[in-house]
Amino acid sequence: MTKNKNDFINLNNAREDEQIEVMQKIATQDHCPFCSENLRLYHQQPTLKEGKYWLVTKNQWPYKHTKHHLLLIYKSHATKLAELEAEAGAELFAIIKELEQELALEGGGLALRFGDTDFSAGTVNHLHVQLIVPDAMAKDFEPVRVKLGLQWEKRK
Ligand SMILES: [Zn+2]
Repeated sequence: MTKNKNDFINLNNAREDEQIEVMQKIATQDHCPFCSENLRLYHQQPTLKEGKYWLVTKNQWPYKHTKHHLLLIYKSHATKLAELEAEAGAELFAIIKELEQELALEGGGLALRFGDTDFSAGTVNHLHVQLIVPDAMAKDFEPVRVKLGLQWEKRK
């Protein structure tokens, strides 16, 4: 395992200075920042919705050019798809359907990274789904891209 990577986080995939700072703090604790007992220690966004399996909140560090960047965090610690309960899939779709209606989402995408963070390019290795609506009507808009995988020279 590289210096910036442990079982719970991968600093090499962090994008913003403040995010890197928070992640460095988490690294010293060696615990998972998305597990419910730790989430409030670092995450400052309110919970917008909560089901049996998923919790919905805003991304603390939204991607540039997004109108909405929500996280649906699995409520138990899981890193592999095989660890998800079958019923969690049905609840996930029920929640995103509600969000689409309630927030009148025009369109966007879902991203679900899983497993080894060198492959997923995830910063936090705890299953979560990103719901991204680009700010496509903004004058300076540029397409939002989701990265998968980390190049060798960035693995520190
Ligand atoms: Zn966790």
